Amino acid sequence: MSTTDQSVTIFDTTLRDGEQAPGISLGTKEKLEIAEQLARLRVDVIEAGFPITSHGDYEAVSAIAGSVGTESNAPVIAALARCHPGDIARAGESLTGASRSRIHVFLSTSEIHRRALLHGADEDAVIRQAVSAVEQARTYTDDVEFSPQDATRTDEDFLNRVIDAVVAAGATTVNVPDTVGYALPHDFGRLIGDVVRRVGPDVAVSVHCHNDLGLAVANSLEAVRNGARQVEVAVNGIGERAGNCALEEVVMALATRRDLLRRTTTVHTPEIARTSRLVSAVTGYPVQFNKAVVGRNAFAHESGIHQHGVLADRLTYEIMRAEDIGAVGAQIVLGKHSGRHAVARQLERMGYRLTDEEAGRAFTRFKELADRKVDISDKDLEAIVADEVYASGDGEPFELVWMQVSGGTVGPPTATVRIRRVAEETLVDESCMGDGMVDAACGAIRRAVGIDATLLTFNVAAVTGGIDALGDVSVQVEVDGRRFAGRGVSTDIVEGSARAYLNALGKSVRLRQPVTAEMS
Ligand code: MN
Repeated sequence: MSTTDQSVTIFDTTLRDGEQAPGISLGTKEKLEIAEQLARLRVDVIEAGFPITSHGDYEAVSAIAGSVGTESNAPVIAALARCHPGDIARAGESLTGASRSRIHVFLSTSEIHRRALLHGADEDAVIRQAVSAVEQARTYTDDVEFSPQDATRTDEDFLNRVIDAVVAAGATTVNVPDTVGYALPHDFGRLIGDVVRRVGPDVAVSVHCHNDLGLAVANSLEAVRNGARQVEVAVNGIGERAGNCALEEVVMALATRRDLLRRTTTVHTPEIARTSRLVSAVTGYPVQFNKAVVGRNAFAHESGIHQHGVLADRLTYEIMRAEDIGAVGAQIVLGKHSGRHAVARQLERMGYRLTDEEAGRAFTRFKELADRKVDISDKDLEAIVADEVYASGDGEPFELVWMQVSGGTVGPPTATVRIRRVAEETLVDESCMGDGMVDAACGAIRRAVGIDATLLTFNVAAVTGGIDALGDVSVQVEVDGRRFAGRGVSTDIVEGSARAYLNALGKSVRLRQPVTAEMS
């Protein structure tokens, strides 16, 4: 195997296309948390958002640019823009804090998109608009990506004219999106090979594949085989409709079959499992059990013959090691007597950069947990930080002060909660009876915060094994027709549920913002 195999740029769009999946809405805090993890995973580019669409998106992109993207070896931070002067200016402004930034402009090129989305704009008008957008983007950064939206359903002669024009105008990456997941591997590979030869070695060809026919990863690999130098991916494959090319799958395919593909990535694969867990928890999107690479069963062997084979020699039925993606059992790292310093050092070792105040809150939560649980693992700490620092931290409109739930066998369950409404600086006590303890707790919370919400999905995962395991609860709620995900962690499932529910209701307040544009 050659050590000179070229590296493929991993462009992560979890925070942009991934966030467009139905029911996912992330605030700045959640996006920052994911972006920090993507930096630990060492992706090359983080597409942080689409700043023109809302004030919240602008704020999130600039926060990521100004914290995750500041070091010279940090990932490139990218922002999406339509080919409109206002979009591009907004994208450019949002990226000022980043050490390396990219503006990604897109414009529809297929006939059906031009008719339906661009008021029937003719080919020359599309080319003029694309060229002026790329030229404007270049005034903000030397790193400009152009995407002809719906490229795989675009007439190829026209596609070539668009590509020639944007390259001449200064685009440094040409992305060929299979926006609707229509391409087949052999034909897509042929198209990419043609584009690669057309643009020459100074321009990187990228692909952005959707999974409508389950071919996003296959199409992306075929593109790489034909010279594509960048793949656009999302963690757990989330995104519009059936989603995007899954980061973990394409990265592990490149690593596992490097013998044939001859391409490397800079991704630090032992962070894959943690990244997958984080994105699942923050978005409220569970990962299917049999999902390639990161599913719960991806390294589980059930049949006797398989178990026997793996015990005799792991390679009989495994092509990757669970350790390669960091899917190892929880590591016991701390105990009841660990002090503030030990906790801080362990968090640092795990890659968290917390403020003193955040580290203090994480430590308080650690002490509470250590009273209920003997051994504290790295996964427990990860869950504590996710809940205490990101889900319940700064800017949350509500805080659970305490709760009490009683009954179940003798009478209907009753929950009493005390909620701090941060803006009004008031404490509100409310009680509610329910069909079960979780229902009662959610009812009391609803009354205390005064928001009418419907619980859509409810998932509980154990952070580690054992009867004293932390329960990690993810919920999705609907408020005024919009969906919000929430997360809560506790050794007590009812308390975890209450925290998750309150977190989701808090987001419905934090994220109230109009949506102003649609995207690729
Ligand atoms: Mn897309």
